[in-house]
Amino acid sequence: MYIPFNKPFLTGKETIYIEQAVATGKISGDGSFTKKCHTFFEETFGFRKALLTTSCTDALEMAAILLNLQEGDEVIVPSYTFVSTANAFVLRGAKLIFADSRADHPGMDEARIEALITPKTKAIVVVHYAGVACDMDIIMDIAHRHHLFVVEDAAQAIDSYYKGKPLGSIGHLGAFSFHETKNIISGEGGMLVINDPQFIERAEIIREKGTNRSKFFRGEVDKYNWVDIGSSFLPSDIIAAFLFAQVENLGSIQAKRKLLWDAYWQALLPIRDFIRLPHIPAYATNNAHMFYLVCNSIDERDALIQHLKRDGIMAVFHYQSLHSSNFYADKHDGRDLEMVEFYTSNLLRLPMFFELSPNDIQNKIAPSLLSFFKRT
Ligand SMILES: *Cc1c(COP(=O)(O)O)cnc(C)c1O
Repeated sequence: MYIPFNKPFLTGKETIYIEQAVATGKISGDGSFTKKCHTFFEETFGFRKALLTTSCTDALEMAAILLNLQEGDEVIVPSYTFVSTANAFVLRGAKLIFADSRADHPGMDEARIEALITPKTKAIVVVHYAGVACDMDIIMDIAHRHHLFVVEDAAQAIDSYYKGKPLGSIGHLGAFSFHETKNIISGEGGMLVINDPQFIERAEIIREKGTNRSKFFRGEVDKYNWVDIGSSFLPSDIIAAFLFAQVENLGSIQAKRKLLWDAYWQALLPIRDFIRLPHIPAYATNNAHMFYLVCNSIDERDALIQHLKRDGIMAVFHYQSLHSSNFYADKHDGRDLEMVEFYTSNLLRLPMFFELSPNDIQNKIAPSLLSFFKRT
């Protein structure tokens, strides 16, 4: 049997809720299922304001507009991340200052952020890689002392915590993804979380094409008007209906993923002297978004990918550093980002999806990995 890297999980309720949404006769944005999702996220995680978007990319673009970034403003972002973390800010004309990763974790190295701040710095964007928190006390302290905004790219971080606080609720703004590769999904989908109340009213406007239509629907104004810049960032209620079926099952989805993650950890302990297993700092929880390994070289990683493939197991590498990408290399300030290059070359992700079983891990994936290191 072939084991894919990912397989989207359906709870079974998705199409039932989509039919209900269609039957209401209102399937554009901010219908009943969108409201149910907003309420769920606000009540479950204590988010000040949750707004569904069509993707995490869109949520990040809204964040960049809300921060009023101007041409020449600087934004500190990790280089080991998905392109949207950076692109959203480049679209507003910002200059990216790339931060290196930690030695023990692919997340950005908090200890090296402060040295990157200049009078032009406006924001720090953090990415909770694999759903594992950055050290937010350190980052928020730096931000307060330098009057910077913090945006959490929490695309992978639903239901994960930093010292008991839900990720996405700590920075001024947080962005989540419901892309089919994440823990809960709607195909494409995302959410902007607004923790700083000064941004709430404008976020609604930006999300509704620069109009005050949300206020109009609540009866707070008698006609709606063009009041700001904006775009169409809100999803159809059909997407929200799909997402609500997932949201209702968040607990069981998370429990199963954590079971699988722990099965990987136990089964791979025999090779922990040959390859690095994931590191979860004491202040962070694990939402089992991903199980990754860190190889010793790119050659070893490529050989391991081929070895697993011969055994019918699909393992994949991850990000290519953004500071040396085709698009940004000549705009980057030239600093070497040693740890980013290290993870670009050496990190490997193993299959992780709801329908995987501990048995697949114990009797197929782990034995294949152990045989590669001749530890069977
Ligand atoms: C998945 C992901 C995104 C993009 O999410 P979309 O919903 O596909 O736009 C952004 N940042 C990170 C860290 C991600 O993992």
